[in-house]
Amino acid sequence: MPSTAPIPRDPLDAARAILRDTFGHADFRGLQAGVVGEVLAGRSALAVLPTGGGKSLCYQIPALVRPGLGLVVSPLIALMADQVAALQQAGVRAARLESGLSLDDRSALWRRIEGGELDLLYLSPEALMAGPTLDRLARTPLALIAVDEAHCVSQWGHDFRPEYRMLGRLADALPDVPRLAVTATADARTREDIRRELRLEGCAEFVDSFARPELALSAERKRGKGHARVAELVAARPGRAGVIYCGSRDGAEILAEALRKDGVDATAYHAGLDKDVRAERLEQFLEAEAGVMVATIAFGMGIDKPDVRYVIHADPPASIEAYWQEVGRAGRDGQPAEGITLYGSADLAWALRRLDSRDTSAEVKSVQARKARQLYAMLDGATCRAAAVRRYFGEEAVQVCGQCDLCLAPPKLTDATELAQKALSAAHRLGGRFGRGRLVDHLTGKTKDVMDSEKALSTWAIGADTAANTWRDLVDQLLFEGLLKEDPNDGRPLVGLGDADGVRAVYRGERRVSVREQLAAAKSSRGRKGAKAASLYVDPADVHLFEALRGWRREEAGRQHVPPYVIFHDATLAAIACSRPRTESALRAVDGVGEGKLARYGEAVLKLVREN
Ligand code: ADP
Ligand code: ZN
Repeated sequence: MPSTAPIPRDPLDAARAILRDTFGHADFRGLQAGVVGEVLAGRSALAVLPTGGGKSLCYQIPALVRPGLGLVVSPLIALMADQVAALQQAGVRAARLESGLSLDDRSALWRRIEGGELDLLYLSPEALMAGPTLDRLARTPLALIAVDEAHCVSQWGHDFRPEYRMLGRLADALPDVPRLAVTATADARTREDIRRELRLEGCAEFVDSFARPELALSAERKRGKGHARVAELVAARPGRAGVIYCGSRDGAEILAEALRKDGVDATAYHAGLDKDVRAERLEQFLEAEAGVMVATIAFGMGIDKPDVRYVIHADPPASIEAYWQEVGRAGRDGQPAEGITLYGSADLAWALRRLDSRDTSAEVKSVQARKARQLYAMLDGATCRAAAVRRYFGEEAVQVCGQCDLCLAPPKLTDATELAQKALSAAHRLGGRFGRGRLVDHLTGKTKDVMDSEKALSTWAIGADTAANTWRDLVDQLLFEGLLKEDPNDGRPLVGLGDADGVRAVYRGERRVSVREQLAAAKSSRGRKGAKAASLYVDPADVHLFEALRGWRREEAGRQHVPPYVIFHDATLAAIACSRPRTESALRAVDGVGEGKLARYGEAVLKLVREN
């Protein structure tokens, strides 16, 4: 390369220079370069990159390279506030247009926008599409419009936001400005919706692999509410930030309270809380290094805390899309992290019941019921979880991950077809009039005050030589497989036969039912540690310096009232601890250290390296 060229000829070179100098990264990853190149050429595009895949740079960098202001539409205030703070740390002129601005601040912001003094402006879809704002922005040179979390436009997704639909009008309102839609979850159907609603027909589509190699996944069937197990899992991961998802507000409050009693820095977060309380708790969590957020799905999109080390589902999510997005909130910094899911047949029954009561079309209901079943099939399955998810998203020729619980300890499968036949005929004989517990009692012959008519049935005590636990697990599995089904019966579910063809095939022995061997011995497996707790790659010899750096960062963050990771990510501190840079230029070479941060923090960091 000629060393004399003062201006990079290739726009991608200019983009790389900014990537290096401003953001401190050596090169683009994955599909980033392709997406950036497309936008730099002035064309609109759709990019589907996994969580942590670096979507934000795909629009931040073109906004800096192309002349004019970059607009970023995002559904959540927390997300915007975070990105703006991080950009400002890196020396980028970014701001947020929010409804809460005072009149003075608002006109000052508009002066900067119209004076060309701003690189990036973040705003909500409603704010952008408001007539006067749009008119005013249309008279300003614009570099691009990025639509973050673009799946919100689709009602097939799980985050449908009607106000996103307005964004389609941008195609006519600002025809010359390239538009970039980005999202982390979009199966083919959702992608189609995004293209149609956002008027991106004919644009290039970039779809990255959904692999998340830093995530170790596991799932286990739960007993009862599973709260004791969650407490155990949290206790085994001290000093780490985690998110715990619960299915209900009450559940979140109760679990957070229980964890606090155990001395964990846990708070609850759900839509039932006052807006200010929510904002305060969010901030507290973002700024803590080892906080645990116990939340409903109200705590969701836009939680970009990069150093969440684990996500535990105390109750399972609604679909594989939701699962991937929620566990995806762990390990965004690319360091090892875990996704642990507790699930039970009662959760599935509850999910289906709730779906059924929803005020949507039969078509949407049946799509969502299928999605729920597919999730449970993956959770209760016997093959690599990461591979199952990626196949679900349409990836082909997928390798196993080698680190999920099923890869590490492939379950031994035992044929249980005969037991299944017994359980199915018992459910049949009982005529769907009883719940799970009573069905198991019937099989084992332990029913209290049993009536003679029940005793006379040929299935009475037919499974007395098999443990009640085994029966319970088998009944769960038959529910997951749809061979049995639960009738809600106002919260006291009754078990009856499910899919008739399937049941017939099992009776005839044409369809085999196999169970995991350890399920039969579920009691003893409860103490099992499962996948080992994820930790950062810090050599024992460097831990001292790493901790010193974290301590300095904590103070610095406290002083500036920003989350610690806005200053440096854990991954960057780990890299500094391991490479022990002695000079500015050595520090500049560390991933995540750009010119802005070097100028701000270089001296302090080098001093810490010298002294530790
Ligand atoms: P997403 O929005 O896709 O979940 P982000 O844009 O928040 O992901 O980026 C995730 C993390 O990856 C951030 O910590 C970011 O600094 C880092 N990152 C992004 N691009 C690169 C790159 N090319 N090289 C190194 N790190 C990167
Ligand atoms: Zn695996």
